[in-house]
Amino acid sequence: MSAPLIVTYQGERYRLWHGRLVLDWHKKREHWGGGRARPCRFCRRPCRLIDDNGQPVHKVCLELAITADLLSRTEESAA
Ligand SMILES: [Zn+2]
Repeated sequence: MSAPLIVTYQGERYRLWHGRLVLDWHKKREHWGGGRARPCRFCRRPCRLIDDNGQPVHKVCLELAITADLLSRTEESAA
């Protein structure tokens, strides 16, 4: 039995699920962008959620971006 992989990003702890960081936005109403679709800052397709800075994002796009960021740092620190 393997323990869930926990990573720390910007002072918060997150769970990795199938190699991807999982953001917990279930109880965070501030990530609801108000129902207006705006282009995601990663893939440019319309989305209705916002990140901590109020920028429109898909949750999955942000998760993938953070995961990539974390992986690149891990490689740097391992080198
Ligand atoms: Zn997106």
